[in-house]
Amino acid sequence: MAPLIGIVASIEAGEGVGSERYFAGGNYVSAVVEAGGIPLILPFVREKDAIQHQVRTVDGILLIGGYDVDPLVFGEEPHANVGPVFPERDEYELAVIEEAKAQQKPILGICRGLQVINIAFGGTLYQDLSQVSGTVLQHRQPSRGHVAGHSAEVVAGTMLEKILGVTQLRTNSHHHQAIKSVAQDFVINARARDGVVEGIESESANILGVQWHPEMMYRHFPEMLKVFHWLVEEAGREK
Ligand code: MN
Repeated sequence: MAPLIGIVASIEAGEGVGSERYFAGGNYVSAVVEAGGIPLILPFVREKDAIQHQVRTVDGILLIGGYDVDPLVFGEEPHANVGPVFPERDEYELAVIEEAKAQQKPILGICRGLQVINIAFGGTLYQDLSQVSGTVLQHRQPSRGHVAGHSAEVVAGTMLEKILGVTQLRTNSHHHQAIKSVAQDFVINARARDGVVEGIESESANILGVQWHPEMMYRHFPEMLKVFHWLVEEAGREK
């Protein structure tokens, strides 16, 4: 059977008080299918046993985009531009990452997913790109999701370079936060021209993170599916 990819659900406040929704955007689901995986959306649960079982059930983990991580998670007070936070999602994703690492399951993190991975392994974030000194490009593009907004330089010798087969690409950009200090044992695998980190990875932990949204681009730029192919292939590897 094709590998099962656990897509960790986003949380959003629904209509009315107390009616949260747990969901994943359709592009993530279809990108996993297109890459040969079987998607399974994993909703927030609190019990450690349940999380262990969820992770055991799947072969790989996809962490998707969404609202900002609560800055208190990495020991900072919230910057004025931080959006709504969902502390239960932060807590759940951190637990899923810990469990996936223990079970040696590959992880692909997209946008917020990359940021959570960085925090999970001890890195920090700029809570808002206004905190980055020097020139900053447009990282919150008003253009449609599949449109390439800025260039990214892929670092030679990284997994990402092997996966994509290029050292230059153009990506969409839908973020106002970015990686500040990179987690230990991780390396930067892509940067925008203004120096903003656009990807990190740990080859030993089999974890890949990108700051852009390949799931919004792959129908127009087929090479963007390669990161999903990587996840599905790694998930399908015999342990
Ligand atoms: Mn960007």
